[in-house]
Amino acid sequence: MAATATHPDATSKPTPLRLTDKHGRAITDLRVSVTDRCNYKCVYCRTGTEGAQYAELPIADYLRMVRVFVSLGIEKVRLTGGEPLLRKGLVEMVAALAGMRTSFAADGAPLAAGAGQPLDIALTTNGHLLEDLAQPLKEAGLGRITVSMDAVNREKFARITRVPDSFDKVLAGVRAAKRVGLDPVKVNCVLLRGFNEDQIVEFAKFSRDEGIIVRFIEFMPLEEDRVWTPEVVVRLKEILAALNKFQPVMPLAPNAASETALRYTFADGLGEMGIIAPVSHPFCGHCSRVRLTSDGKIRTCLFSQFDHDLYGVLRRGGDDAALAAFIQRTVNQKEARHHIGEPDFLKPSRSMVHIGG
Ligand code: SF4
Repeated sequence: MAATATHPDATSKPTPLRLTDKHGRAITDLRVSVTDRCNYKCVYCRTGTEGAQYAELPIADYLRMVRVFVSLGIEKVRLTGGEPLLRKGLVEMVAALAGMRTSFAADGAPLAAGAGQPLDIALTTNGHLLEDLAQPLKEAGLGRITVSMDAVNREKFARITRVPDSFDKVLAGVRAAKRVGLDPVKVNCVLLRGFNEDQIVEFAKFSRDEGIIVRFIEFMPLEEDRVWTPEVVVRLKEILAALNKFQPVMPLAPNAASETALRYTFADGLGEMGIIAPVSHPFCGHCSRVRLTSDGKIRTCLFSQFDHDLYGVLRRGGDDAALAAFIQRTVNQKEARHHIGEPDFLKPSRSMVHIGG
């Protein structure tokens, strides 16, 4: 099923090739959006009147497409949205993913069917529905979770999400995720100048008190409307300066070359912060990610100008070999990097809520 290279001696078995783009990057991480509906209206994301919803597909169709991606070398699947916990059948989807195995060894050698490792399954959520779903998701096979949380101040949180009384729900969700043993539990905070840069030290305390990893994200131009400007971005240097004012910060080694966050802790080792700095410190050179949108389109980069209709191949009766070939061709066209802040920068053809994190 996987793409192959023909060996000179025609009798030998063709060798499956691992998913790689034309820049030589191994593509091992797939982010799957299972809905573009969301129960929040965050000020830096849902900025416009773009009410249009794209689509949601049957969970079985996502699983079919993911299975082909896994046969090509995907090892990590992150479920996203909109808000994925709104999606019925999500727990069952996680259970099905937990039954899948990776297809290649660390050195890229193909493995016999079923001989690989369990998939690394993660999820990104706004946490509003997490308190009740943490246990069933964990039991189904979810390994780790990231909760989007942009303030630890109750009023500020409600102003950012534009949903009253949302903070306590999300805090309860974060604590439930930790209690049931999802590991790690991470909180992502998108920083906007004039909105929540005063939360940096509060989040450092939160990380130390709650024992969860907090990651600060530089605001990217992925919102519905055109509110992004370079001036609104709170950059890595500024975040570190604020943290160092609180306590001396020490860098930590990356967990993997493709990790997007630069990791830090404090001198006493308590608390872990990450800084995801796509604007001031881009990490495209090690990018290992592609995305599948809620309507079944492949996005090779967050900032792509194009969608690639994988679901169209499936709907037209394409078999797994046809899906695999489409994926290979598409991934091969993956962009080298983003061009944020450059004269030729073009806003992507979709906003974040319609791409998935
Ligand atoms: S901007 Fe595109 S290439 Fe760069 S890290 Fe993000 S997805 Fe990868």
